[in-house]
Amino acid sequence: ALRVGIVGLPNVGKSTLFNALSEAGAEAANYPFCTIEPNVGVVPVPDSRLDRLAELAGSAQILPAVIEFVDIAGLVAGASKGEGLGNQFLANIRETDAIAHVVRCFEDPNVVHVEGSVDPIRDIETIETELLLKDLETVSKRRERVAKSVKTGDKAAKMEADFLARLEDHLGDGLPARTLGVSDAEAPILRDQFLLTAKPVLYAANVGEGDLPDGNAYVEQVRERAEAEGAGVVVVSAEFEAQVAELDDEEKAEFLEAAGVEESGLDRLAQEAYALLGLITYFTAGPKEARAWQITRGMKAPQAAGVIHTDFEKGFIRAETIKFADYDRLGGESAARDAGVMRSEGKEYVVADGDVMLFRFNV
Ligand code: GDP
Repeated sequence: ALRVGIVGLPNVGKSTLFNALSEAGAEAANYPFCTIEPNVGVVPVPDSRLDRLAELAGSAQILPAVIEFVDIAGLVAGASKGEGLGNQFLANIRETDAIAHVVRCFEDPNVVHVEGSVDPIRDIETIETELLLKDLETVSKRRERVAKSVKTGDKAAKMEADFLARLEDHLGDGLPARTLGVSDAEAPILRDQFLLTAKPVLYAANVGEGDLPDGNAYVEQVRERAEAEGAGVVVVSAEFEAQVAELDDEEKAEFLEAAGVEESGLDRLAQEAYALLGLITYFTAGPKEARAWQITRGMKAPQAAGVIHTDFEKGFIRAETIKFADYDRLGGESAARDAGVMRSEGKEYVVADGDVMLFRFNV
C-alpha cells in the first residue's frame, strides 16, 4: 500500500490527527493486512463506485484501497545533525511515498508554539531546511564517489557528475529536489538517491473547527507556497477529526452536515494523497468481494494484475474489462457482457481509472 509520512513541528496537531486517522482506519478494519505497527494507521480511500459494484455483484465483502499513514514525530530543528533522534526520523521518512506536512494554522493561547508564535511559512521552512540539509549530505557523498569514476574516463559517470553538481546547487539554493527539472536520462539518477525533498508533499493545514471548511489567512499563506512548489493543501481540523473519528457512519454524516462540511478531512487527505501521487483505481467484483486496487497511471494490464498476485502477471493471458460507467448503467457483469461492452484486453492494454477487471492467466 501507499505510505504517507506525517511530519511537522511539535505541538502542531500531528498526534491528534494521527490518532483520528488510526481510529477511522480501525473502524473500517475488516481488512486483511491490518496487523500493523503502532505508529502506522491504515486509512481506506473512500470511493462510492466500490459500494455500487458490491451492490450489483452481491459481494459479501467490500475492500477499499488504503493508504498507510506513518507518524514521524520528533522532527525538530537540528534533526539533520542528529538532534532529538533526528537521523532516525529522517530514515523513516525515506521509506515513505509521500509526505503529509501538518502545519499549525490555529491560534490557541493554551497550546504553546515551540517558536513562540503562529507562522506557518516559518514552520514549513524549519522542517524543509532539515530535509534539505540531509539531502545535501546524501548528494555530496554520492558526488565524491562518482568523481572517482569520472577520473577513469567513464562517460556515464561524467553525465551523473554533471547532474549531481546541478542538483547540489539547486538544493544549496534552498529549493527542494522535487522542483528541479530533470531529463529522462537524469530521472533514474535522481530516483536512486531517495531524497527526502524529492517526495511529493501535501500540506495539512490544521485549523480550529470554526475555520472549516475554507480556512483562514494562515491557510492562504500555505496555499500560496504550495502552489509555487507543486504541493497539495488540505484544510483539516485535527480536533474536529478526533471527534468525528469516534462516531459511527450515521452520526458522522449528521455531525459533518451540522458543521457545514461535506467530507471529513481524513477522507479528503486520503483522496488528495491519491491524486498527488498520480494513482488510479481499478476494481474486481464478485460474490466474495468487491475490491479496489491502486495502481500508477499508465500501467499495462499485466502489471496491474501483478498488484493482486505476481502469478497473475507472470501467467497473464487476457483481461476481461468493463468500464465502471457501463457496469453501473447496465446493472452488472452479465448484462454488460450481453450488451457487448465487456472487452477482452491483451498485454499492451493501458488500464484506465474505473475499469472493472477479470484476469485470465496460466498457472
Ligand atoms: P503534536 O506535537 O504535533 O503531535 O501535537 P498534538 O497533536 O499533541 O497537539 C498539541 C496540542 O494542540 C494538543 O493539546 C491538542 O489538543 C492541540 N490541538 C491540536 N489541534 C488543534 C486545533 O485544531 N485547535 C486547537 N485549539 N488545538 C489543537
